[in-house]
Amino acid sequence: MERKVFGLGDIVQMKKPHPCGSNEMEIIRMGMDIRIKCTGCQHSVLIPRAKFEKNLKKVLKSAAAEEPQG
Ligand SMILES: [Zn+2]
Repeated sequence: MERKVFGLGDIVQMKKPHPCGSNEMEIIRMGMDIRIKCTGCQHSVLIPRAKFEKNLKKVLKSAAAEEPQG
């Protein structure tokens, strides 16, 4: 099984969609906890990394791979 790789600015899909109907989230903060923002309603939540990894379904768009700096 492939290991989930994610980074700041990535658009990710969670296992459970947000109540607003969107299941796309943008990672806006990385650390011990991860802050993700719903792309549908702009609501952001801070969740522990372990919980995030457990609820992460897949990375839809990697910010790092999309536009390499320099
Ligand atoms: Zn939402």
